[in-house]
Amino acid sequence: MAQEKAGAVFGLPFAEPPGPDTWLLGQAYGNTTGAFARRREWYRAGQGIHFGIDFSARCGTPIVAIGDGVVLKVDAPEHGSAPHNLLIAHPNGYVSLYGHLLERPPLRVGQRVRRGEVIGLTGDPDLTCTSRPHLHLEIRDRTLGRAFNAHRLIDADWDALMLIGAFGRGFQRDLDDPRKWQTVFDQPDVRFGWPLINEFRNTWPRDWN
Ligand SMILES: [Zn+2]
Repeated sequence: MAQEKAGAVFGLPFAEPPGPDTWLLGQAYGNTTGAFARRREWYRAGQGIHFGIDFSARCGTPIVAIGDGVVLKVDAPEHGSAPHNLLIAHPNGYVSLYGHLLERPPLRVGQRVRRGEVIGLTGDPDLTCTSRPHLHLEIRDRTLGRAFNAHRLIDADWDALMLIGAFGRGFQRDLDDPRKWQTVFDQPDVRFGWPLINEFRNTWPRDWN
C-alpha cells in the first residue's frame, strides 16, 4: 500500500521550534506506560495504546496544519478529544486529527488549508489550562478506522524530543519479548474497535490492573 511507503511527508503542528516557552513532546504515540495503565478504559477503542502524539503547550498556542488539505470535520463528537477537535483530509490519503483545542476552530468543512497555516489553538481536556494543557494529534486513514504511527509520518527529531518530554516517556515492556515496541519508530498501527494488543502476561512496569 502506498501509505506504508509514504515516509515523513508531514510537518510538525507548530510553527515555533520546541522549548520551554513554546511546546514540548508530552506523550509519544504507541505502547506508552501511561496508555498501558489505562488500556481497558481510555485507550480500549485504540487497542490499548496511545493512538496519537501529545504535545505539551500553554493554552492558546497556535497550531498549524501538518500538510495541505481540506477540512473534513469540525467539532465531531464521535472523535472525542474534547473540548474541541478538527479533522483535515490530505491528498495523500491520510487524515490528521487535532484534539483538545481551546475553542471551535474558525474553519468550515470543505475549506482548503495549507501546510503551516494556523488552524486552531491548543487547549486542555480538563478545561482548566493548568492541569494538562496539550494538543493530541492523530494521523488516520481515509476511513478513520485506522491510526498510524505518527512519528514515522512527521518530519522531526523525535529522539531529541523524547529526551525532554514532560510525561509518559517510557514504553511498556512485554517481558516475553522485551525489545518489542520500545522506540518511537517501532510502534504498531491501530485499528479502532479491534482487541487490545498489550495484555502482556509478564510486563514492566508492574501491572496494577
Ligand atoms: Zn493524547
